[in-house]
Order: sequence, then C-alpha cells, then structure tokens
Amino acid sequence: MLDVVNLTHTYGSGPDAHRALGGIDLNVPEGQLVCVVGPSGCGKSTLLRSIAGLVRPTGGEVRVKGRPVTATPDDLAVVFQDYSRSLFPWMSVRDNVALPLRRRGLDRAARRTAAAEALAAVGLEIAAAKYPWQLSGGMQQRVAIARALAYRPSLLLMDEPFGSVDAQTREDLEDLVLAVRGHHRMTIVLITHDIDESVYVGDRVVVLTKAPAVVAADLRVDLPGPRDQIGTRELPAFVHLRSEVSRLVRGRPEFSMTPPHMMTPSHINKE
Ligand code: ADP
Repeated sequence: MLDVVNLTHTYGSGPDAHRALGGIDLNVPEGQLVCVVGPSGCGKSTLLRSIAGLVRPTGGEVRVKGRPVTATPDDLAVVFQDYSRSLFPWMSVRDNVALPLRRRGLDRAARRTAAAEALAAVGLEIAAAKYPWQLSGGMQQRVAIARALAYRPSLLLMDEPFGSVDAQTREDLEDLVLAVRGHHRMTIVLITHDIDESVYVGDRVVVLTKAPAVVAADLRVDLPGPRDQIGTRELPAFVHLRSEVSRLVRGRPEFSMTPPHMMTPSHINKE
C-alpha cells in the first residue's frame, strides 16, 4: 500500500537549513495500522505530510499503491490534531462530512447517505444537523474521523489525532479507530507522541530517531485482540513493549528482548 524509500527533507537553505528527515525507509502492507513515534520535533509530521503530498520532500520517494506521490493521492484522507481548524464552522456536521465526497463524484443523495453512515459509525447520528462549534472537542474530532471514513480512503493518515482531547475521550477515540478499522479494513498510519497509545492501537510501532530522523526500530505488536483499555494495558507483554519503545524514543536501546513474563532463571542471570 505504502512505500517510503530513503525519504529526506530539509527545511530552508544555507546556514539556517534544518534537516528534518535523514533517509526514512518504510513499507506498509494493506490493512496494517502502523504507529510512528519519536522525540518531539524529530520530523513525524514532516513524514506524514510528505506521504500526503502536502510537503514536497527534498529527496527519496513516496509511493502509494505503487504510484509516486507528487500531489495528494485521491485515495487518501488525513485527520489532523486540530479539529477546530479542520472543520468548517459555517457548515453543519452533516455537510462537513459530506463535503469531500464531491471529489468522489457522488450525487447529493449518495453523499447524504454516506455521511449518515459515517456519523452512525462514530456514534454521532444525532448531531448531524448541529454545527461543529455546538459540540465538545471529542465530538468534533469524531466528526473529523467520520469525514475521513465517509470518504472510504484506502490509506488513512492521522497526525496526533487525539492530542487535543481529555484522557477519557482519548481512550474512547482509540477504541473507535480500532473498531472502524476492523470494519472498513483500512491501512492506517498514525503519528503520536504517546508511547502507550502507539502500543495499544498499533499492529506495529515505528520509532524515529531525533532529527535528521531515520527509523531507529520497527517493532511488531503481538498482543491479543480485541484490545481492551484496562486488560490489554495490564498485560506483561504490553508493559514490556511500552518500556522498550520508551527507551528507544529516549535513545537508550539497552532493553531486554525477552518479555518479563517469559523469563526463566537463566534469562535473569544472563540479563
Ligand atoms: P514532529 O512532528 O516530530 O514534532 P515536525 O515534522 O513537525 O516534527 O518538525 C520537524 C522539524 O522541522 C522541527 O524542528 C520543526 O521546527 C521543523 N519544521 C517543521 N515545519 C517547518 C517549516 N514549515 N519550516 C521550517 N521548519 C519546519
């Protein structure tokens, strides 16, 4: 679905130039949910915007379904952190969700049906006639997610999508993404600075180094499904993996490869 090959990006030129991406390689097969984490300012958003065709990288290549990305691909949707700026305040929730469907060539009736289905998927059918400013932050972000879902993208990019909501809403939205993802079988790349979140929602966690960012580690999340906010986070395998990611993000990869619950006395002696 997605190939990122030796992607580099430098902002500016001369003495003020900032090399954000130092050569990123990433391959995401169809249907996978990949979380990208890394130190603050390392270039996560730059990577996501390059994939979306919103930043023209200075080197390397991005391919979506084998086609080089030179502008925003038709089959792609992005959910940004700042829902207050991504929804149009003068449009109803329904019209906000239906708007991008014009690009799909759907007539008005089909757009309304698709918008209603997507709002139902995020539990907001009752808010269809309201305006974004009449909703809480968490509800507005659910509208932004509904808009992305209605579009039925093959590839969904999410840039810190839950960064501006409270902790309880954040957990609800994480579960919402897992649920709709299971239903629509989308490929998702989710940028987050929250290490626990990356392990909780991801099939895979890609850790970037500080700038110029390269991939420091690419870890498979082998946790049983369906994931559960309390049960999953209590699992020794979860705790082990989140510690491993945390050390990697801090640039201290002196971790044990053996989950603690699988350690035998010989492991403990060796490690
Ligand atoms: P992250 O998402 O990991 O926090 P970003 O991709 O937003 O990092 O930014 C990476 C670096 O590039 C930061 O140092 C940031 O200040 C810089 N940067 C981001 N956008 C621009 C821009 N448009 N012009 C110049 N520098 C930028």
